[in-house]
Amino acid sequence: MSSLKVAVDSAAITHNVRTLGKMTAAQVMAVVKADGYGHGLIEAAAAARAGGAAWLGVAQPHEALALRAAGDTGRMLTWLYGPEFPAEELMAADVDLSVSSPEVLGRIVTASRDGSPSPRIHIAVDTGLGREGVTIANLPGLLELAKAVEREGLVRVVGMWSHLAWADAPGHPTIDLQAQHFRQALVMAQDAALALEVRHLANSACTLTRPDLHFDLVRPGIAIYGLPPIEDPNGENFGLRPAMSVTSRIILVKDVLAGQGVSYGHEYVTTYPTTLGLVSAGYADGVFRAAGSVAEVAVKGRRYLIAGRVCMDQFVIDLGPATEVCVGDEVTLIGPDGPSARDWATAVGTIDYEIVCRFGGLRAKESA
Ligand SMILES: *Cc1c(COP(=O)(O)O)cnc(C)c1O
Repeated sequence: MSSLKVAVDSAAITHNVRTLGKMTAAQVMAVVKADGYGHGLIEAAAAARAGGAAWLGVAQPHEALALRAAGDTGRMLTWLYGPEFPAEELMAADVDLSVSSPEVLGRIVTASRDGSPSPRIHIAVDTGLGREGVTIANLPGLLELAKAVEREGLVRVVGMWSHLAWADAPGHPTIDLQAQHFRQALVMAQDAALALEVRHLANSACTLTRPDLHFDLVRPGIAIYGLPPIEDPNGENFGLRPAMSVTSRIILVKDVLAGQGVSYGHEYVTTYPTTLGLVSAGYADGVFRAAGSVAEVAVKGRRYLIAGRVCMDQFVIDLGPATEVCVGDEVTLIGPDGPSARDWATAVGTIDYEIVCRFGGLRAKESA
């Protein structure tokens, strides 16, 4: 058992959702996919509701069903599935369903005809991301089909949505271009006589930077966990608080001479007599192996570079020749008194989304 501890401050998630809610006139859909970005699906959802999230958003159907099973009765949207998905269960659970294709709509209509309650659906439009959603070229056909089955009482078309490719690069020309395509899609919905309740486009970055693109609903994910994907020009993290902290402990401290190679491959070699500290957390726990020699941790508020390679369940730090660090001292990998998830992302060449998902995987295993 590793001594890595992943803690989630659910009050921070509540605070962050409330803070985002104050930035917009739109409703807030808190995105809690991927186990709440590693923070825990049920816990993150409850915290987000407490902060005023009128909606929850999840990619996968099983996540929506898990939220219902946990007692959440509010509005909820799921969007990532092909025609083989648990339509009946979702419809019985009153989950709003995204529709990207005639095949998915057909599956929903079949379930409806077979007696499942008619669901509220949101048409997903690919305005330029090149990922989920129907293309603008194929939208009129899908809208016509949707209107026909709506007339039969088999679905209610309540939403239209899209997703941005470059929202985290404010000013990128694709943002306005996608917005223009989205507006065009909304006109098409109007032309098809569909009365939409919610139009939505904004992820975290768009929520923070483009109030003109909030429409009726914003869908922040990473920001509700306190990790805005763009820098706050005022240096205040947009008033958001990181919710996840990751800590471990020093389990061995020992003095070594100058010239001691450290960890596999001796990538790090001491240049003076010093003290090494052993931390019992490794890549099996979510500590990226690529963090060796590049990422920092903190002990008693001081930063230390990981010395040499990260192993499966352990890594070493060089505490220096006159350290006061002892066995049992806490090591902060991520936390207010240490590096941020962004620091880790920068060190290992990824984004903080992947860092929290990775560490959160361990939290999920521990609580299972
Ligand atoms: C993940 C996701 C979001 C949230 O994105 P963030 O960048 O985390 O804010 C919003 N909408 C959709 C469709 C998503 O897949």
